[in-house]
Amino acid sequence: MNKLGGYSFEIGAIRPPSEGGSYSLLIRVTQNCPWNRCKFCYGTPYNHEKFQLRTVEDIKKDIQAAKAIGDEINQVSWQLGYAGQINNIVGSTIIQRELTLSERHSFVTVFNWLSSGGRTAFLQDADSLIMRTHDLMEVIKYTKETFPHLERITSYARAKTIYRKTIEELKDIRAAGLNRLHVGLESGDDELLKLIDKGVTAEQHIIAGRKAKEAGIEFSVYVMPGLGGSTRSEQHAKNTARVLNEINPQYIRLRPFVPRPNTPLFDEYQREELWISSPRERLGELKTMIAGLTVTSRICFDHMMNGWRKESGELLFTQDYEGYKFPEEKEEVLGLIEEGLRVNESLHIHAKDMILMPHL
Ligand code: SF4
Repeated sequence: MNKLGGYSFEIGAIRPPSEGGSYSLLIRVTQNCPWNRCKFCYGTPYNHEKFQLRTVEDIKKDIQAAKAIGDEINQVSWQLGYAGQINNIVGSTIIQRELTLSERHSFVTVFNWLSSGGRTAFLQDADSLIMRTHDLMEVIKYTKETFPHLERITSYARAKTIYRKTIEELKDIRAAGLNRLHVGLESGDDELLKLIDKGVTAEQHIIAGRKAKEAGIEFSVYVMPGLGGSTRSEQHAKNTARVLNEINPQYIRLRPFVPRPNTPLFDEYQREELWISSPRERLGELKTMIAGLTVTSRICFDHMMNGWRKESGELLFTQDYEGYKFPEEKEEVLGLIEEGLRVNESLHIHAKDMILMPHL
């Protein structure tokens, strides 16, 4: 067996929780965010570092390193009589031979990915579609050729970048093997989109979402309850429902707004220029938005920031990655919102108490 610590590849800072849940293989195709201006974010997940494209050659080297790590892990599995099954005994045997591996992100990522089935990969960082279409296709094809068992490849993308791609380009990217895009809608309200400097309009979001879907790429959008505070709550809820209805994405994922340190909205909050809505106000906003939805999407509360509780103290909504299927489970979600509205407000977690929680 070669020294596994001798292999490494770049890993970016974040991935969607649903990709963490499936321990997706992380392939970093670009570094950081090319926009860095959304006022609730400001590229903080990427430490405000400068955006960089990576060369196809460098990305392929990373994929080869991940493959080499996987091959070595498999070899140990066979040596131990597990016939390619990757389990804890395989892991502990490898680490006993090379103790520093438990701290090597590359090894840990590949081991977790393989032990959970090795079926999904996620392309990092914030906007992979900004790559030249031809280069991105080459990377995706190479990933699939190297790991033929992959069933799903996903990525983050900015709506503006998708909007700028032609439908033919998106179809080519889909044909190369990209299955799903995770996109931050945040709000469907143009005034709010401008205030947070999202750099994209509601109409462009709609066009981007429809184009991706037409190309056969699943669309998974993030929505931010509470982004408009109390004053813009109604317009945020209604216009977001309108945009979601127009797109009808496969997934709608709720990420309640929390001001993050080192962002302009956090500074406004500290200067007391920004009012954070209460958990009950946010539930009221959610009620308006959910009631207005005519989608056939899955609505997911798959993040700990959805801190609403039942009287019993349990979470109000399941944080499952597949969430609630609409329209079938719409009444159930509306019923849960009513239940949450009846609960003593102190039981819910307030956004202020989540400021220092990690992004993931
Ligand atoms: S595009 Fe995404 S990563 Fe970039 S600043 Fe906006 S929210 Fe942050």
